[in-house]
Amino acid sequence: MPTLRLRDDLSGIPDYKPGKAVAASAESGAVEVFKISSNENPYPPLPSVAAAVAARIDGINRYPETAATELTAMLCERFAVEPVNIVLGSGSVEVVSQLIRATAGEGDEVLFAWRSFEAYPMLVRAAGATPVPVPLTAEHGHDLDAMLAAITPRTRLILVCNPNNPTGTTLGHSELDTFVAQVPSDIVVVIDEAYVQFNLREDSPSGIEFFRRYPNVAVAHTFSKAYGLAGLRVGYAIAPAPLAGALRKVALPFGVTALAQTAAVASLLAEEELGERVDALIAERERVVAAATAQGWRLPESEANFLWLPLGEHTSAAAALLEEHGLLVRPFAGEGLRASIAETEANDRLLVAIAALVELGLTGGLVQRAA
Ligand SMILES: *Cc1c(COP(=O)(O)O)cnc(C)c1O
Repeated sequence: MPTLRLRDDLSGIPDYKPGKAVAASAESGAVEVFKISSNENPYPPLPSVAAAVAARIDGINRYPETAATELTAMLCERFAVEPVNIVLGSGSVEVVSQLIRATAGEGDEVLFAWRSFEAYPMLVRAAGATPVPVPLTAEHGHDLDAMLAAITPRTRLILVCNPNNPTGTTLGHSELDTFVAQVPSDIVVVIDEAYVQFNLREDSPSGIEFFRRYPNVAVAHTFSKAYGLAGLRVGYAIAPAPLAGALRKVALPFGVTALAQTAAVASLLAEEELGERVDALIAERERVVAAATAQGWRLPESEANFLWLPLGEHTSAAAALLEEHGLLVRPFAGEGLRASIAETEANDRLLVAIAALVELGLTGGLVQRAA
């Protein structure tokens, strides 16, 4: 077999690690396993959304409408922007990919906090550009001063994840404003708001408002998390017109299926109902945090639908123990693990499991007083 001539720079990209499949670790007759590793919405689709998708199935022999007129119009009304400012993608991960490929190529740098969304460095490398990860603060949040200091003449894009995945930490309005004001205006700043609906922080910056005030700011939103459409793949950017035009040039053709468009439209029509689910998940988050705190845990404050346990060297052992409790979480060996807030039963089980971590002393120093 001849050696295939592949791109040399791809060898630096780690293989994608999918979240563990439930079936793989569920032993026959064992307790139900909860996959709380991908921050999915635990609720099944709303009946109105499921019905709209079912009704659309008849047309799937046709290509989807690239302009997604109906969905785009609804988003424009919702955010008071023009169609020219909206670019859809196959999930906001594709939107982030568009943003990277529209701004950065070989030799260019893309800046982001680290640890943050796992896809960032992969997508940057896939575009042939250079990822520049800037370590988080000791409080697990963006170190905006360090990010400013990391800007070079090769910087083309800065990704700001608020709330940050996987730490759940947030930025305040004035700190983000101070930051963006100091970024050279020819560098695009993206505010990735995948978890914005779960963020109750009072002085939270609004990505859309930043988009309105700064000609170099774009926002990325997704229907995967709060809207519960992770399986259908639809997200969007709200971007200044010249940038949006460039995003369309690099977008995957027909990347947003007709079913995804239909489900997104139906979801926007059902926002009140979906909002109740978001409220319930936030209430569950608060309940779990209060109970964990009562156990002695001191966790980074999360404004997302997941919690970050920076367990350091205890991470892998803790993840294995959680798995024994039927919980599949997302561990980052040596750093910490992320657990999604999910069904009440899964959340209850998480509390039992982390109490067991306290018993075993697998707390990474996060428990300040014995329970
Ligand atoms: C989940 C997530 C996304 C988007 O996911 P899609 O399913 O591709 O829309 C984007 N950014 C962050 C930080 C996420 O956690």
